[in-house]
Amino acid sequence: MMPSPLGRYEEILSGSLPARYLLARSVKVELQESLPLPERWALHDRMMQDLREAIGRSDAPRIVSPNLMDLKVSIARDLVRECSLCEHRCGTDRYLSRGRCGVTDSRISSQFVHMGEEEPLVPSYTVFFSGCNLKCVFCQNYDISTCPEAGLIIPSREMALQMSRLARPFGAEPRSRSPGDIRNVNWVGGDPTPNLPYIMEVLSRSDANIAQVWNSNMYLTEHAMSLLEGCIDIYLTDLKFGNDACAMRLSGAPCYMRTATRNHLMAAAQGEVIVRHLMLPGHLHCCTLPVVEWLAENMPGAAVNIMAQYRPAHQAWRYQELRDAVPRGDHRKVLEIARTKGLALI
Ligand code: SF4
Repeated sequence: MMPSPLGRYEEILSGSLPARYLLARSVKVELQESLPLPERWALHDRMMQDLREAIGRSDAPRIVSPNLMDLKVSIARDLVRECSLCEHRCGTDRYLSRGRCGVTDSRISSQFVHMGEEEPLVPSYTVFFSGCNLKCVFCQNYDISTCPEAGLIIPSREMALQMSRLARPFGAEPRSRSPGDIRNVNWVGGDPTPNLPYIMEVLSRSDANIAQVWNSNMYLTEHAMSLLEGCIDIYLTDLKFGNDACAMRLSGAPCYMRTATRNHLMAAAQGEVIVRHLMLPGHLHCCTLPVVEWLAENMPGAAVNIMAQYRPAHQAWRYQELRDAVPRGDHRKVLEIARTKGLALI
């Protein structure tokens, strides 16, 4: 029998393993805020080895202070002084001004129990951030993604308290769960990437044993991906395009393929992954089929959701091929090809 692509996540749900970020909170670090950034990175890389060893164990994490999550928070806060959280690498001091995404303080557009995500994830407590680092002309959430100044500022301490109402600490929860129990916290937007320091702060203040989902376009830098390691249990990713020209034309994302494929491989090495691909009309041969091919070659163990629910939205009307829906026959054909190539479709 094939191992489940979401095996560790299922063990967090059953209460037999802790969420990764709780393990990061159990790794003691000698943290001095005066330590220069390169030295904090070196410390981070050393302490990550301890964390990787702890991830396979099921003993209860004992939270210590200061810990690896605190170190991640301190690095993340520094990364936004010359922002390099995503591959746009604006270099903006986000404490003083706005970069391309327009995000300064993290603002929450809405948060609610989402029943519309992939079956293993629901019910999912979903937090939608305002603003996004990509500018997809077909964005279905453009009302959120294009308005980074909208939404509420919720202090990280308050958000951590909310999380503690969703799940109890590791070891304190009953082993049997009811189907209505929230299964995870799902960080999305827009995109969570510009809000990485806020999310880390929330996690550094919480002790709820609940899986963390990074629901993202995956246009992050390697540094940002390194910080996520040990905090995120499931990467719920978009692999949008199969070539750089389409990514540039429709999302304004230079070097998309190099970035997105690198980050997918990093995500697969760090945790469990559900890859989404939204089929775009007119992009079967340039995007969808190359994406299927790449996944089959490089991430054969990942769960994959190939979606056909595209509808023209936002600025899609400006692009001839995006004014239509995806032909039903194309979707059926792609699912067949993906199955033949051994992808685990969900
Ligand atoms: S998250 Fe990306 S787009 Fe936003 S300021 Fe940072 S580097 Fe620029």
